[in-house]
Amino acid sequence: MRLYRPACLIAAVCLAVPAYAQTAADAAADTAAYRAQGEAALERLKREPVPPSRARNVIIFIGDGMGVSTITAARIFAGQAAGKDGESFETAMDALPYAALVKTYSHDAQVSDSAPTATAIMAGIKTRNGMIGVGPEAQVGNCASGKGQLVPSLIGLAQDRGLATGVVTTTGITHATPASAYAQTVQRDWESDADMPQAAKDQGCTDIARQLIEGSTGARLNVVLGGGRTHFLPKSVRDPEHAGKSGARGDGRDLIAAWQRANPNGHYAWNRAQFLTFDPARHTRLLGLFEPNHMQFEADRAKDPAGEPSLVEMTETAIRALSRSDKGYVLLIEGGRIDHAHHAGNAFRALTDAKAFDEAVAAALRLTSANDTLIVTTADHSHTLTISGYPVRGNPILGAVAEAPGKPQLAMDGKGYTTLGYANGPGAGHDHARHDPVAVDTAAPDYRQQATVPLSSETHAGEDVAVRASGPGAHLLRGTIEQHTIFYVIREALFGAAQK
Ligand SMILES: [Zn+2]
Repeated sequence: MRLYRPACLIAAVCLAVPAYAQTAADAAADTAAYRAQGEAALERLKREPVPPSRARNVIIFIGDGMGVSTITAARIFAGQAAGKDGESFETAMDALPYAALVKTYSHDAQVSDSAPTATAIMAGIKTRNGMIGVGPEAQVGNCASGKGQLVPSLIGLAQDRGLATGVVTTTGITHATPASAYAQTVQRDWESDADMPQAAKDQGCTDIARQLIEGSTGARLNVVLGGGRTHFLPKSVRDPEHAGKSGARGDGRDLIAAWQRANPNGHYAWNRAQFLTFDPARHTRLLGLFEPNHMQFEADRAKDPAGEPSLVEMTETAIRALSRSDKGYVLLIEGGRIDHAHHAGNAFRALTDAKAFDEAVAAALRLTSANDTLIVTTADHSHTLTISGYPVRGNPILGAVAEAPGKPQLAMDGKGYTTLGYANGPGAGHDHARHDPVAVDTAAPDYRQQATVPLSSETHAGEDVAVRASGPGAHLLRGTIEQHTIFYVIREALFGAAQK
């Protein structure tokens, strides 16, 4: 519920005040309040102490596809969902003291996919679209070309020094971003052996799922939580949750059984009830694979047949488990489906997942100390979402642009338009006939925002993303930086300047 507060009390003056000067009761309401707000913010900035340089723990949060327009829209969405003023609402990420702009182009593309961008953050180099943990000297999909070009990830480097490590995502665990923690491959789509050409197998390349269970980095992970069971099970094995689905592997390997054999004191879970029985005092390791492919969008999670943990629950459990390490830990957490909802042209699910991602950041801040834990939040790349028109303050972020409550602004075709839109994607429709958003429920979960260029899948976008951080070393994330600079800042915070 939004409370509109009159901007003035004298009728003649009121008429001259545009509608967008109205603010909700919990936002600054007048000149004196804005000045007080600015002065208080300045004092906070001046008092912000430079954090220590060495971190015991690092938590890297990647909101897949969480560009700056998504950050802003999700902030308004979260504020309005809480019954507050959305525009001035402060999320957990907004409250982090240090920030920089990040250049996300890849070695060979102006607009990148998640494989080279996650590689930049996790392994410190730009590479080609489609490749993970392999230098740009290799060619996409060419197994032999990757020989000698593999680059280690922060996770592997931390394991070499005895730190505990974990990966959490809402996508399949073999998807590009989580794979950047433990896999090296010239083709991100090689999630199971069934996705690989025979030549690649003959040349000795292995699929991403197998690298997770058998690889030198993957096998040392203490906590692994996400979706993607199908890539770990042979075709002959039925999925435990979804009738009619089965494993994808063609080599007959049951990699979940292999993990259980290798970790007799580990805990495997494929639903929320099993996940909740994990006991970090008893179980040395945790593997959770909660869907055959990606986990549910947060908006759909309650309808999951067997039940899935939330990103907050996975984050809290991962931190509690890894905190038992006496040498610290490195944890990668991905809000992976913000990206998928954007690809579908569906802002509702993207913002709901972005809000859940922010709640996971809040949980991590609650469970850790800024004295010893570096928390880095960023995105791998952006999406074509825009926030446009001149909607009045407090206008529902998923609504049609209104110049005053109940008074929609009309375009040149006499129809309304929504604040949120996409430059391309399925929302354009194939005949380019524009529906009138004023006549439909644009806040409905399945509503697709209108788009300009008709594409079956909305695309990534190439403008800079933000990195925002707190804790040891966070103050080095400032200015406008290359994406792979993030890796070096984290590495130095963890291992010190002498470690190269
Ligand atoms: Zn994507």
